Amino acid sequence: MNKTRSTLAQKDMLHHLHPYTNARAHQEVGPLIIERGEGVFVFDEDGKPYIEAMAGLWSAALGFSNKRLVAAAEKQMSTLPFYHLFGHKSHSPSIQLAEKLIDMAPVPMSKVFFTNSGSEANDTVIKLVWYLNNAQGKPARKKLISRIGGYHGITLASASLTGLPANQRGFDVPLPGFLHVGNPHHYRNALPGETEEQFADRLAAELDALIVHEGPETIAAFVGEPLMGAGGVIVPPRTYWEKIQKVCRKHDILVVADEVICGFGRTGNMFGSQTYDIKPDIMILSKQLSSSYQPISAILINDRVYQGIADQTKAFGALGHGFTGGGHPVAAAVALENLKIIDEEDLVARAAHMGEILRRGLQDFSDHPLVGEVRGAGLIAAVELVADRATKAPLETPGTLGRFLAGRAQEHGMITRNMGDAIAFCPPLIISESEVRSLLDRFGMALDDTS
Ligand code: PLP
Repeated sequence: MNKTRSTLAQKDMLHHLHPYTNARAHQEVGPLIIERGEGVFVFDEDGKPYIEAMAGLWSAALGFSNKRLVAAAEKQMSTLPFYHLFGHKSHSPSIQLAEKLIDMAPVPMSKVFFTNSGSEANDTVIKLVWYLNNAQGKPARKKLISRIGGYHGITLASASLTGLPANQRGFDVPLPGFLHVGNPHHYRNALPGETEEQFADRLAAELDALIVHEGPETIAAFVGEPLMGAGGVIVPPRTYWEKIQKVCRKHDILVVADEVICGFGRTGNMFGSQTYDIKPDIMILSKQLSSSYQPISAILINDRVYQGIADQTKAFGALGHGFTGGGHPVAAAVALENLKIIDEEDLVARAAHMGEILRRGLQDFSDHPLVGEVRGAGLIAAVELVADRATKAPLETPGTLGRFLAGRAQEHGMITRNMGDAIAFCPPLIISESEVRSLLDRFGMALDDTS
């Protein structure tokens, strides 16, 4: 590509190693530099607007210009810009946020542990569960089960939970003791003629067989996203979670709901655990918790988990785990204000309503020769592109169609994300009906360009 680049773009290419980016291709493609945001739009350095159909990284629930969040950060910055929770210290924003999250939780939870990212939270959960099992005289109960296509982050342990080849290739993960079972994508993974119910039964039986094969006394927890996000917006069959939980309970295996994407309205209820009737022992929250205006994540543990951990800290003198920024007062203050706005503006109901309009609009493309499946729940959806609708086959190199369409969408003023050949939609919860229609128009133009 031969185009004139701004000074900023040149400096980007000179100095950045970008996450999730082909470093060599970046020297050709160059960066899209986003300069400011307004509502559901972001603007590049030439002033071109883009609908942010992914809410950034599935996260900016309130869009990109909420002044109340800015004011909350400013107020906290000028009162107490930093403090920590180590060694019996505490501060008001973190205390208030912990109380709020316990109040909101869809099942009785006992305590909150704050971290800074979804990856750190998943890593911390693994360590806490190991710590708990050591405390309870079950040192063999250490293996973790997650799903192929699941996404739980990129630190060593969370990348081991993650079931995506791109996060494991070349990184020497997964670590030993991390097991992956099939995911509940009926369109892709069901056997010919298998109903959703039969498919869910089969997945639960496979989980049960794996646990029995490994030895139930060696399995610590099952970790899953209520609706799988980064793996392609995989909506589980209606009875999937009920069946999976039954297997876990039978073998006394903890159920961990990674709500990093689903939490705070995304699936049309406050939590994905409500949408799919999950009763988790542990919940992981991030992203829409603060609309990502500040990095923050939270782990909610039930009393059974807490009591075991607390006993162990008594034996060891202290919990040897914690992050400098965990429960950061500015992040906590922003999260509190963010949750207040979600509540005041009834954004969970709005997500359900706008999601219906979005999914109905996407369904209108389902006769298109390139559209294999339209799926979603609440305000999260995906359109899976195929080269052949009868065989569901992608082009020879999977991801080619998706990548091309996402590129065309960007030309048409919309930022979306292709996960292979699935195009994801996860706009801010504040999106209006006319903005949903504009998003659909831009998708239609990009799809036409791809045909
Ligand atoms: N868990 C889920 C379900 C996610 O979607 C993500 C990120 O997209 C993570 C964990 C990791 O979060 P982070 O990127 O903040 O480490």
